[in-house]
Amino acid sequence: MARRRQIYEGKAKILYEGPEPGTLVQYFKDDATAFNAKKKGVIAGKGVINNRISEYLMTRLSEIGIPTHFVRRLNMREQLVREVEIIPVEVVVRNIVAGSLAVRLGMNEGTPLPRSIVEYYYKSDALNDPMITEEHITAFGWATPQDLDDIMSMALRVNDFLSGLFLGVGIRLVDFKLEFGRLWEDDQMRIVLADEISPDCCRLWDMKTNKKLDKDRFRRDLGNVEEAYQEVARRLGILPESGPRDIKGPSVMQ
Ligand code: UDP
Repeated sequence: MARRRQIYEGKAKILYEGPEPGTLVQYFKDDATAFNAKKKGVIAGKGVINNRISEYLMTRLSEIGIPTHFVRRLNMREQLVREVEIIPVEVVVRNIVAGSLAVRLGMNEGTPLPRSIVEYYYKSDALNDPMITEEHITAFGWATPQDLDDIMSMALRVNDFLSGLFLGVGIRLVDFKLEFGRLWEDDQMRIVLADEISPDCCRLWDMKTNKKLDKDRFRRDLGNVEEAYQEVARRLGILPESGPRDIKGPSVMQ
């Protein structure tokens, strides 16, 4: 079989040409990077778990009417997605102070925010993803005011839904990053949720112990990174414990 064409290689994923026009195959690697790729490593099995977690969350979100690029999971490390034109803006939603917000404003990590905050960053490794405002996004034509309305309302719906979903399995959704893309159907354009949703791009804290169950374990050398990702998958009921037929539903925490 001819080797399929690689479209793009990112830090944690590779995109290949899909089986039909307008589709891509998204391959999840075990590679991990932090601090704009200044720190590099491998988390054994991460790609397999993130493929599953992202499939699960994107599917639940599409069930509540959030359009996504996800089509279906193909195998352990790959999923079929719709080809979209990625909007070069990272959308971060925060519920609790952590990470760059704690540093920038000198606030204590763990402080609950009075309301959810949405932030925008320009996707540019060369510039270290600088924070931007809606003004920059519309002035430079990265998205229109109407696009931003759609993006903001989707991001807040995703936040409400995922906060509840994780709360149900004893996890606090501290913050997360989303990416959106333009999907063209005939002459119509729709903005859809793209990329991935996994512990690589969310902060997830155990509700009782505040134990970090996300990429901060890698960023901050806390150890047991793979186990933390597995714990998230296990609680969501998507980690086969003794084989693929052993997948249970979410385990509700009291
Ligand atoms: N995030 C991400 N990719 C980035 C930057 C941030 O997925 O390039 C996620 C990060 O995992 C966290 C949230 O967005 O869940 C907020 O990140 P923050 O701004 O605190 O940046 P950090 O200090 O994590 O780089």
